[in-house]
Amino acid sequence: MTLDQLTAWMTEFRRLVTEQRDYLTELDSAIGDADHGTNMTRGMTAAMTKVDAAPSADAGEFFKIIGMTLVSSVGGASGPLYGTFFLRLGTAAGTADTLDGTALGAALRAGLEGVVARGKAQLEDKTMLDAMIPAVGAFQTALEGGADLPAAADAALAAAEQGRDATEPMLAKKGRASYLGERSIGHIDPGATSTALLFCALATALR
Ligand code: ADP
Ligand code: MG
Repeated sequence: MTLDQLTAWMTEFRRLVTEQRDYLTELDSAIGDADHGTNMTRGMTAAMTKVDAAPSADAGEFFKIIGMTLVSSVGGASGPLYGTFFLRLGTAAGTADTLDGTALGAALRAGLEGVVARGKAQLEDKTMLDAMIPAVGAFQTALEGGADLPAAADAALAAAEQGRDATEPMLAKKGRASYLGERSIGHIDPGATSTALLFCALATALR
């Protein structure tokens, strides 16, 4: 993936969270405080304004700008969590300006580990990790099986969407939704939904 394709990925992610802003907020109004759509839209708009203003020297710098902007411009839990994800992606990418499948897989894995370290959630806690963990796993498994980048991204998207849908019957154990206890059951997690959009954007950028 070239820097142009990475930019297309993030541009498409901003477009999708903006398009789905009301839906993300509606999901968050059921089990949270009704701000996930506005949080993601504000954060990604600020991040893309930053990266569009000054071209990045390499993929590491590109993702670090996005991560830092999300951390500083989003007040909710999702800002520091997605911010950490992109900061770790940036550290893993380093000074490369093109990432092959293996490098992107390793960077996504590092990002995921950053979210786990920061949020202390695990699979089936009803969070963004329920989409992110299967998506990164499917991406790396597809590549190891000989898939090319677009096919691996499609596999990751399918896994993310399945993971997102699987959050509906779960009881939330982390974040605001966990305050609801049993009443969190029966609703799709907003963060898992935005993570599925992240992988949708990746698949689109690689198509
Ligand atoms: P807030 O909960 O502060 O209002 P958002 O509404 O923007 O922030 O984001 C909520 C989402 O953040 C949840 O749907 C969930 O996916 C994710 N989330 C919350 N806490 C955690 C955590 N500890 N680990 C991973 N994801 C989390
Ligand atoms: Mg919220």
